[in-house]
Amino acid sequence: MKYEKIRKQVLDAILEAVEQGLIKGTSGNIALRDDEDDVVAITPSGIPYKGMTVEDIAIVDLNGKWLEGNYKPSSEVPMHTAVLRARPDVRATVHTHAMYATIMAMGDDAELKPITPPQCEFVPVGIVPFTMPGSDEVADKVVEALGENGRAVLIKNHGMFCCGKNMKAAMAATEYTEEMALTTIYAKLLGTYEPMPEEGVKKMKELIAADQAV
Ligand SMILES: [Zn+2]
Repeated sequence: MKYEKIRKQVLDAILEAVEQGLIKGTSGNIALRDDEDDVVAITPSGIPYKGMTVEDIAIVDLNGKWLEGNYKPSSEVPMHTAVLRARPDVRATVHTHAMYATIMAMGDDAELKPITPPQCEFVPVGIVPFTMPGSDEVADKVVEALGENGRAVLIKNHGMFCCGKNMKAAMAATEYTEEMALTTIYAKLLGTYEPMPEEGVKKMKELIAADQAV
């Protein structure tokens, strides 16, 4: 089977996201770019993830044209391929409707700030106003909100979109963005909300960047 390696990684990641409760039903989608060819493995549209096989993961080109797979690719292909085209440093992309990120994405004060040091890697988290799912418009807005270095954005009345240099990094962005949203919401409810000081965030980001450069 063609592109088995990237298809397997996408399948493992989506099952992991389901296991963690980041994805429910057939919502959410995950993509991974091949290291050699300009193709992308992506979850299929409208098929339950439990019981899914490697052959069910679709292969598309960088413009989203369906090349391989038992089922047609996710309707959010434009969002994933637009980010992969715009950001050569990004190989993996993860879109979920994870509950706490989705709740945060509704507010006018949706800005997520790190509460704990590991979350610093993923800020600033961009905000995308509501646009129709699956549209080129939402794809363009996600690319714009991520900018040159962004790892995570919230999409109003929809969910979040995260990316990374590999699947592990994109999944970490998703997990920590959801954690940041959860801790922010509970702390605000308790009246104890006090994000990390900006100087601390800046230093943590420098440490993380230096570590990743090694
Ligand atoms: Zn969605």
